[in-house]
Amino acid sequence: MTDCIFCKIASGAIPADKVYEDDDVLAFRDIRPAAPVHLLLIPKKHIDSMLTTTKEDEALLGKMLALTPNLARDNGLGAGYKTAINTGLAGGQEVFHLHLHILGTPQQ
Ligand code: C5P
Repeated sequence: MTDCIFCKIASGAIPADKVYEDDDVLAFRDIRPAAPVHLLLIPKKHIDSMLTTTKEDEALLGKMLALTPNLARDNGLGAGYKTAINTGLAGGQEVFHLHLHILGTPQQ
């Protein structure tokens, strides 16, 4: 989707502080962190929100969730972290490209 900020980040048209990338997904640091470590994990494929996912997205969604502990460990959150997916305007979603927040504070 050409006017989608996260599609532009996924394509490299807009820079981001990337921490992980493969063929399907990208993780980068949130520009307005709400925690000492605040990552966003997005599918490269444009999906508006959880409300528009379909059965064919099951594997991708499972992959995203399964990646979170590795992303957390690699970014100092091996002791624990929070995940959130804001969904729809009523769910506080601001950017309409599905993204999973990973938040936490590195422990000593
Ligand atoms: O879940 P929600 O849509 O509310 O969150 C969007 C998130 O995307 C915000 O935390 C915002 O700081 C982040 N963002 C970003 N880089 C951008 C635009 C938004 O990290 N260029």
